[in-house]
Amino acid sequence: MKHEYPEGFQNLINLLKTLPGVGRRTAERMAFSMLKWPPEKLAEFGTAICELRRSTTSCPECGNLSSSGSLCSICASSSRDKTMICAVEESVQIYNIEQSGLFKGVYHVIGGKLSPLEGKGIGDLNIKALLKRIEIQNVKEVIIAFSSDVEGQATSIYIAEELKKKNVHVTRLAQGLPAGSDISYADSATIAAALHGRRPL
Ligand SMILES: [Zn+2]
Repeated sequence: MKHEYPEGFQNLINLLKTLPGVGRRTAERMAFSMLKWPPEKLAEFGTAICELRRSTTSCPECGNLSSSGSLCSICASSSRDKTMICAVEESVQIYNIEQSGLFKGVYHVIGGKLSPLEGKGIGDLNIKALLKRIEIQNVKEVIIAFSSDVEGQATSIYIAEELKKKNVHVTRLAQGLPAGSDISYADSATIAAALHGRRPL
């Protein structure tokens, strides 16, 4: 007969498995690791999850993560250039771009990309709020930083068309070879994008 975990333990594994990138083996390792935690740490973990919806909200301005309904730290900062908006698919990308330390403007989270297969249309994306910001904030440039897959490209084009009606300068991130990559292994689409986006040396 197959040996089974106690019900509560199995339940925890099943829940962990629903997280992205976590398979059965990893979920089991996590659950066994948690068994060794002191009760206080388990309680802290549980509370962080229970309170997540209340503690972490969307910035009313840009849709980035913020604390309990307030502006995010980027929108609240007086040193950011509000005339330049970088439109991203999800908040997580803001954290990646911020790591570069090069962008001094503000952001706008679109909340996904157009995906007919998943039933995600224009109405499901946070585009209207972006157009409103363009009108009231004297925005000069919008940088569209979407993935280079088909859906990302389609969404970029749609947003760009809408923005151009507002007379705002629209750019997108250059695409091509990842930093440190070997050109011998790049696929032809990547090389084509890199050639297209070439710059003077
Ligand atoms: Zn914000």
